[in-house]
Amino acid sequence: MDKKNNCCKNGGLDRFRLAASFLVIAIHTSPLTTISTDADFFLTRILARVAVPFFFMVTGQFILSDIFKKGKIKYSRVFYFLKKTCFVYGFCILLYLPIGIYAGYYENITIYEVIKLLIFDGTFYHLWYFPACIMGILLIIMLRRFISPAAVMAVCFLLYAIGLMGDSYYGLTSNIPAINKIYMEAFTIFSYTRNGLFFSPVFLILGTWSGYTRNCFERKNAFGGLILSFSAMTAEGFFLHINDLQRHDSMYIMLIPVMVFLYQLLLKWDISENRFARRFSAQIYIIHPAMIVLVRMLGRLSGLTDFITDNSIIHYLAVVLLSVLTAFISALLSDFFRSKEKPDPKGRAWIEISKTALEQNVRFLTSNLPGTCSLMPAVKANAYGHGAVIISKELNHLGIKNFCVACLNEGIQLRKNQIKGDILILGYTDPKQFDLLRRYNLTQAVLDSTYAHQLRQYGKPLKVHLAIDTGMHRLGTAAQNIDSLCDIMQIKNLKIQGIFTHLCASDGIDKKSRDFTRMQLHIFDHMISVLRSKGYDIPKTHVLASYGILNYPHLAEDYARAGIALYGVLSTYEDNKHYYEVLSPVLSLKARIASVRNLDKGEYAGYGLDFKSTEKMHIAILSIGYADGLPRNLSNMKGYVLINGRRAPIIGRICMDMTLVDISNIPDVCSGDIAVIIGHSGQDYISAAEVAAASGTISNEILSRLGERLERILV
Ligand SMILES: *Cc1c(COP(=O)(O)O)cnc(C)c1O
Repeated sequence: MDKKNNCCKNGGLDRFRLAASFLVIAIHTSPLTTISTDADFFLTRILARVAVPFFFMVTGQFILSDIFKKGKIKYSRVFYFLKKTCFVYGFCILLYLPIGIYAGYYENITIYEVIKLLIFDGTFYHLWYFPACIMGILLIIMLRRFISPAAVMAVCFLLYAIGLMGDSYYGLTSNIPAINKIYMEAFTIFSYTRNGLFFSPVFLILGTWSGYTRNCFERKNAFGGLILSFSAMTAEGFFLHINDLQRHDSMYIMLIPVMVFLYQLLLKWDISENRFARRFSAQIYIIHPAMIVLVRMLGRLSGLTDFITDNSIIHYLAVVLLSVLTAFISALLSDFFRSKEKPDPKGRAWIEISKTALEQNVRFLTSNLPGTCSLMPAVKANAYGHGAVIISKELNHLGIKNFCVACLNEGIQLRKNQIKGDILILGYTDPKQFDLLRRYNLTQAVLDSTYAHQLRQYGKPLKVHLAIDTGMHRLGTAAQNIDSLCDIMQIKNLKIQGIFTHLCASDGIDKKSRDFTRMQLHIFDHMISVLRSKGYDIPKTHVLASYGILNYPHLAEDYARAGIALYGVLSTYEDNKHYYEVLSPVLSLKARIASVRNLDKGEYAGYGLDFKSTEKMHIAILSIGYADGLPRNLSNMKGYVLINGRRAPIIGRICMDMTLVDISNIPDVCSGDIAVIIGHSGQDYISAAEVAAASGTISNEILSRLGERLERILV
């Protein structure tokens, strides 16, 4: 049953953005002056003063949401937003430059004033918003580095109070000569205290706080609070106005509670999100001053000035109409261009690849090996599911010049994506395709003497590494078969650049495994010395894979074929625990929650009636399934995912594209939230090795089976 759950939709905020943008137009057009100046004062200097603080609060809620959380603040979102805002501000500056010049905004301007405009007042009268937003955010994140969230909030309130004394309450301030002097000085730096220092910080942080404490008021109380505080603000505004105390009229004491209650009410408005409204309202904000100029011009040109500009209501409506039209067209256009972009890679289910983790592992493994040995990462099976191209590119950047893959196609894929260096194919390549080895400059392993014969028959030069069987009995010419090896060494068209073997028990630390491994290494060394004594030049040699690097680092030769360890995991849960301090997992697997719903006692969920609830519960549907590589045998409580740092057991049978989890013990889960299948969430962590253990296999299998459908994102 899909009963309503109290979910964190932000549709109310989206709707109110539209209202706020019309209020901003009102501030700049004074629509009611024709009727009554008091009515207009109420509309534009009191009511409409909620608009801009509201915009700051929304920004605060979404951009600074980490401020109140414990642990490290993730700045990437903040900086992305700041970059975008700077870009928009720059665009607006250019857009309004001609209008500003036309309106005589910049006459006889000095460099000092230009800086003042850019940083505080805005280069056109509505553009102060952008620098105020940027400065407010910077101020808050800087403060947060040193002090607690509560202290940051206190500072923001204090700044607002200082701002008030230079705004609506300046009439009082100016009576105190000493303080007045300070304000007079300050006003040479900025025209109003309504700026990024005294105005935006408090609303940014209140927005963050509101989003964080979402349910701190009942709807009834929030509504009552809003009515009361707004009445008080109206009284405050008229009192200051009538007593002529206002220098400017953006800031009131009561504006703070008004905004808090209003915002809580909007958060409780249970209505779906509307991205179009977001873009549309921003466009209106940006474009409306140009439309004011345009309406005036049109009035003059058409000779209808009296009718249009002199009646304040008609003037307002004309500006609204033109702004809406222009914003609508430009929002449509930007939607159109956006729709041509690729869908959001984090839209459904995806893999995040940590660059730093990869770098750390490269560094750790390299430092574990003798200086003469370099890494030859195994990037087969799509780099163990991580994305062969992404991983190899990063490795190239880290100076790695040798790779090994399992098959021809994998090698070709890397070449087509400009991966540099030698690429060794460890497995079988059909002799009919030997041409492709040459075309893509790939190196082939010589799998046995029969295969060597086929390579000889091909006739054209090929780069190869000789595979040697030292006891695994999978691939390679037997190390003991010196005659056969000598034959291969003499094949004219083969450029033998390497010779290697594979250890099959280097992960075991028991005596049997260790003895076997030492025997394998001994057989390999012996074979090399025999070949050398027969006068053959010995090419580069390699014997170790991941476990070899960890357990026998001193026996490394020229290359070490690091696979699983390079990705920061080991095959089993036990091994993984041993090395978790030095290896950093590179991959996280995440999925969006598609839907959240309630189950009554006795209701079923998922295929085959496997799951029946024994009590009322809350479940989430994840947009990831076995087709994405989530092992189906984690069904029915065998596996977990992390949501908001807590474990949610998988219930019922995992479907091809979806998975059901129990979230009864996790509050505030909403559709669109992120579930972590592998990786960190809050204090908790699920490793690939843990998932592997739960489904009865090794990490290597779990990772390498992660589906094509998952996007791979570098972070
Ligand atoms: C896959 C593979 C490797 C890498 O193995 P890991 O244990 O993942 O490091 C090395 N050598 C050969 C021949 C392989 O097939």
